Amino acid sequence: MRILLVEDDAMIGRAVSQALRGEAYAVDWVRDGEAALSALGAMPYDLMLLDLGLPRRDGLAVLKETRGRGLELPVLVLTARDAVEDRVAGLDAGADDYLPKPFDLDELSARVRALLRRHAGRGAPLLEHRGLRLDPATREVTRGGAEIALTAREFALLRALLERPRAVLSRERLRDKLYAFGEEVESNTIEVYVHSLRRKLGADFIVTVRGAGYRLADDSP
Ligand code: CA
Repeated sequence: MRILLVEDDAMIGRAVSQALRGEAYAVDWVRDGEAALSALGAMPYDLMLLDLGLPRRDGLAVLKETRGRGLELPVLVLTARDAVEDRVAGLDAGADDYLPKPFDLDELSARVRALLRRHAGRGAPLLEHRGLRLDPATREVTRGGAEIALTAREFALLRALLERPRAVLSRERLRDKLYAFGEEVESNTIEVYVHSLRRKLGADFIVTVRGAGYRLADDSP
């Protein structure tokens, strides 16, 4: 999952991006409204965290432009302004939720998970497939009660596949979900992680669709 964080406050930006990276999300952090709009034009994000008081283009204008472009990603507004009319304006301009500052990082993470879940059309918090369970909150992956230890990237790749169990995801799309701008990526990196996931989950858990990418094997084990 790749998240766009739009926040001009250095301390908040650093804390939020660290917390989300710790949960295996790829985070691109930009500090003004114009940079947010160009990032949105360059990359399909899974979610945006948007401050309202921003230089160059304020958060409300970014939000309106985002929806005006037809982008449907979930948007969580972070606002220091506690005026009711700002919240109302944000929600009416297409925000999905808001969090007033100062906020607790655990609550922020929980809201991010809830928004991603809702956006994917899921009610249940656990991702399950062929007896395997992934808990996005605790980052635990189990099968038949036994825990499967995964690295952060393996976890992020598996989560991306489980989020859309019938979809074929290209290597490029998966790479975009795993790596933020500025992170070094080897050209065969996705193949390497698919290989190690197959070693841990069974060779047939992830199917290669030639010329297209990867998807999960059908649901009946
Ligand atoms: Ca601000």
